[in-house]
Amino acid sequence: MEKLTNLGIYEELFKAEKMPTKCLLCKTGELDELGHIIPKFVMRWLKRASKLNSFYFNNDREKMVADTPAFKMMCKTCEDKFSTFEKYFTDEIFKKYYRGKTPSPIDDEVYNFAISIAWRLIASTERLKDTQPKENTFEAIYSLSESMMRDYLNNETEKCHHSVYALPIDKLTKNISKNLIDDNALKYTIRQGLKAHLIADERRGIALSFIHLPIIHFKIGCYYFFILQDNYFAGADFEISSTKASKSKELYVLDYTPDLLGFMEWLMDGHFFEVNTKDIPLKSYTHRDAPTLWNLVFGSNKAQSDPV
Ligand SMILES: [Zn+2]
Repeated sequence: MEKLTNLGIYEELFKAEKMPTKCLLCKTGELDELGHIIPKFVMRWLKRASKLNSFYFNNDREKMVADTPAFKMMCKTCEDKFSTFEKYFTDEIFKKYYRGKTPSPIDDEVYNFAISIAWRLIASTERLKDTQPKENTFEAIYSLSESMMRDYLNNETEKCHHSVYALPIDKLTKNISKNLIDDNALKYTIRQGLKAHLIADERRGIALSFIHLPIIHFKIGCYYFFILQDNYFAGADFEISSTKASKSKELYVLDYTPDLLGFMEWLMDGHFFEVNTKDIPLKSYTHRDAPTLWNLVFGSNKAQSDPV
């Protein structure tokens, strides 16, 4: 039988019947070679920079891997398109960081890059054996994001209604005392995750969402990325501070706030090993102020364009 993935350890994770037969992005192209979910350059550079040859898989110290998962998911044209999205981030940010140079600022290209990875994370998670028992729930939560991202990546729409928040790890090292940081974990790890949750005005006891809001997040070495539906933080009580990094895209660079660490701790379900957050007071990350959200939906257009 033909192998589904690039490594034996990943073979058992995917459901064979769920594997694609045509390109998942354009839906018509013939499948090309194994394509990485997290781009190949990431592991290659982290190996070089850390002088390690293999990494823990899913933070499991029993399982060491020498590569991130790859499976046949796209045609050559679509794979090539994704490679062009990688170029700016790889050359101007990632490689510069690990060469000890000052990385260039985030720009528009990084938005496309982050959306392309978020889309790959949804498309691959859908095919995991672990997802199968809750397949319908997964689809209800993530299929809208998947199709909006796919249409955007296929140039069929101009906006994909998801915001990209980027966090360079330097923002953490500059603001958190050294003894609370696991330096190796912060610099040389890759992580990825999907989480979904309902929101409510918890003080007024009003449900504000009927379906779970999806969060797609990943960390590739020196950068964390959070992909959220537009206006995700509107009405939140916790303090998230960011600067818009693009005129045309919903792309933001996060600043350090203690609440950001609390949010990350919650998002990673207690597996935020890079930073010790024991002194950070946790808040409700599912609470939103109802009038703020209503104003956004029914109020002036101005509120929609205000950065959070
Ligand atoms: Zn294609």
